Amino acid sequence: MAENIVIIGSGPAAWTAAIYAARANINPLVFEGNPFDERNRQNGTLPLGQLALTTEVENFPSWPAGDTRHYLQSALKSDDPDFPNWVANNQPQPTHGINGPELMALMRQQAKNFGTRVESKDVVNVDLRKRPFIVTTHDHTTIETHTLIIATGARANYLGLPSEDRFKNRGVSACAVCDGALPRFRSKPIVVVGGGDSAVEEASYLSKFASQVHMLVRRDVLRASKIMQDRVKSNPKIQIYWHTEVDEVLGDDKNGVTAIRVKNNQSGQKMELEAAGLFLAIGHTPNVAFLQGQVELNDKGYIKWTTTARTYTSVEGVFAAGDVADDYYRQAVTAAGSGCMAALDAERYLSHHGLI
Ligand code: NAP
Repeated sequence: MAENIVIIGSGPAAWTAAIYAARANINPLVFEGNPFDERNRQNGTLPLGQLALTTEVENFPSWPAGDTRHYLQSALKSDDPDFPNWVANNQPQPTHGINGPELMALMRQQAKNFGTRVESKDVVNVDLRKRPFIVTTHDHTTIETHTLIIATGARANYLGLPSEDRFKNRGVSACAVCDGALPRFRSKPIVVVGGGDSAVEEASYLSKFASQVHMLVRRDVLRASKIMQDRVKSNPKIQIYWHTEVDEVLGDDKNGVTAIRVKNNQSGQKMELEAAGLFLAIGHTPNVAFLQGQVELNDKGYIKWTTTARTYTSVEGVFAAGDVADDYYRQAVTAAGSGCMAALDAERYLSHHGLI
């Protein structure tokens, strides 16, 4: 029998859609991704999404600073074999809000509490030409569904240099929170690339471990919010290099990254910065490959919402929510909001077609 609603994704959009769909008694099934796939780790596409790769989340409403440990220990169940109650026990308490992984574990738990079924599998293919739609997972299982919510988010970009590729996992990373505390970076200089909120957040986080953080910004302004800019500018361990880009990642097989050759894009002048690591924070690309062109994308490659203020896509019965369709706001709370909208849109579609 076909499912009513399948949700693909594992961030705020996916879990909010699941909470709404489960509370509407339409029995959602979520494919949250495969936690054991090394490619997911490298690409930042593991279950719980991009927020699980961050530290403090200060701007998600309802989480002012406070010691949330007791709440988290009672809210998060330890009977989940895939995600034991690691969050509340192991995370240092944030000073400004809640930790990203905790926030995501709470959303997932809330969805499960209302009966959402969760499968820890990657969706590798969908067939949207047939009705019901067909969804295929990495273990070659296929299921049918009347509606689909795509909430697969986006992944971190890399520069595309061959030397960057050579040193991935040996000093080159796009996730400070995942890799920053590794011994190879401790008390060593580190280079961060980018000028947005992610870059300043990563630079601040890395400054706790590194001896110095060199931050390369390709223009003479930061794109990051003012409050985040002030934090890096006042941090004595962080030095900002304006108009500066990576020319080459230097290193050897034994030590991994040892230095970064950088270039001033105004003067053309090059210099070498000693560094044990290179952290990229240069924006994101939406996770749409598995759709194989069956859903219309916008000119930036994100799924196109075809109707204003609706989560409709070019395929009737397929809805998109969160960063996979949003190249503009890209916030946890806007993703959650569009997840709610997608669930309501899917419910109305099912009802309109007499499927529930
Ligand atoms: P972003 O805002 O798109 O910033 C990307 C940065 O990387 C920009 O400074 C950009 O430079 C630079 N860049 C892009 N390609 C580059 C290249 N090839 N070489 C060198 N630099 C390059 O991305 P983001 O920082 O990941 O943020 C994404 C969204 O998430 C934003 O809406 C942000 O507000 C949000 N976010 C919020 C928080 C928070 O509130 N705590 C934390 C993280 C992210 P240009 O400026 O020159 O284009």
